[in-house]
Amino acid sequence: MSHVMNTYARLPVAFSHGQGSRMTDVDGREYLDALSGIAVNTLGHAHPKLVAALSAQAGRMLHTSNLYRIREQDLLSDKLAERSGMQEIFFCNSGCEANEAAIKLARYYGHKEGIETPTIIVMEKAFHGRTMATLSATGNRKAQAGFEPLVSGFVRVPYDDLAAIKAVAEHNKNIVAVMLEIIQGEGGIHLASADYQQGVRQLCDEQGWLMICDEVQCGMARTGQWFGYQHAGVQPDIATLAKGLGSGVPIGACMVGGKAAGLFGPGNHGSTFGGNPLACVAALTTIDTIEEEGLLANAERIGALIRQLFAEALAGDKGLVEIRGRGLMIGIELDRPCGELVGKALEAGLLINVTGDKVIRLLPPLTFSENEARELVDRMRPLIKNFLAG
Ligand SMILES: *Cc1c(COP(=O)(O)O)cnc(C)c1O
Repeated sequence: MSHVMNTYARLPVAFSHGQGSRMTDVDGREYLDALSGIAVNTLGHAHPKLVAALSAQAGRMLHTSNLYRIREQDLLSDKLAERSGMQEIFFCNSGCEANEAAIKLARYYGHKEGIETPTIIVMEKAFHGRTMATLSATGNRKAQAGFEPLVSGFVRVPYDDLAAIKAVAEHNKNIVAVMLEIIQGEGGIHLASADYQQGVRQLCDEQGWLMICDEVQCGMARTGQWFGYQHAGVQPDIATLAKGLGSGVPIGACMVGGKAAGLFGPGNHGSTFGGNPLACVAALTTIDTIEEEGLLANAERIGALIRQLFAEALAGDKGLVEIRGRGLMIGIELDRPCGELVGKALEAGLLINVTGDKVIRLLPPLTFSENEARELVDRMRPLIKNFLAG
């Protein structure tokens, strides 16, 4: 018996090591990884460049403190700013922390504008994390139940529905920001239309609100662009990152520009570990490797191939509702709850996930090859067919 708290419904497997898109469990069985630890292992497992960079950094120093200048943090902030169109970056350790920073910043902005009870518009089916403020912003009653009182200062609207946001704007004078995922991950791989994203941007400009994009899952090249908002050519005031940023080393970031820049000063926010040298080297190496190995284009190409191959494999199957996604963030919606497919896939040596009850979620490493894509679909196909027939 282990003493680990029982907060996860864990699958009956423990891994020993990995290489690329393959993982090996403690009994020596091999698996094809089409989940990357939920969009975390951007470069797959044991990427030689990451191993070398982390080993070298571990030999120099792991941690100093944000009491001092951190050269690796300066370098990483420059690289992220250049690719995101943002001006300032706060480093933390996880997605919920990045979103906490964004929420605090939006409130701080509101107070500066003379709004005493700043309120943020959030979305149905959103997922922003498990800390009290991010849980309150999350649109999942099951996750919130038992943790009331929730943090106030959020109003919820349907996703991808500009009229709903406009309706709130008419009667609520305390709004300071709109917070959304460009592609909802936990909610079931739902995509916001380009029109909607541009409409939100325009409305935020008209109303003096901040546009906050939670890019924790869809950011960092996963969709074939560095950031999800770049597909529709919108530039948010705040974007948050974590999952794929360090390829497995915990690091998060709250990136700000436009009206959100220049607001925080010393004492407004902080983190002991945030942006420590080891984590920054992981993120720097991730960014460099994505570019050196052409992984933006790979995510786009292999993602499209996987969607096409699944469309062919499942053509005519009545249980299939929709195949959607962008790059290597893929959802296959079925007409019934399909959580049991996760265990079936595991038995067959495939790591996948189901979210939003009926949506098979695939988030392979960005290094996924064409052969691995074909293998994934070939091996998933009978599982899905048998499940739908059964
Ligand atoms: C996973 C996730 C989070 C929370 O990240 P943690 O690192 O688990 O705190 C927040 N937002 C989105 C969109 C996510 O997918």
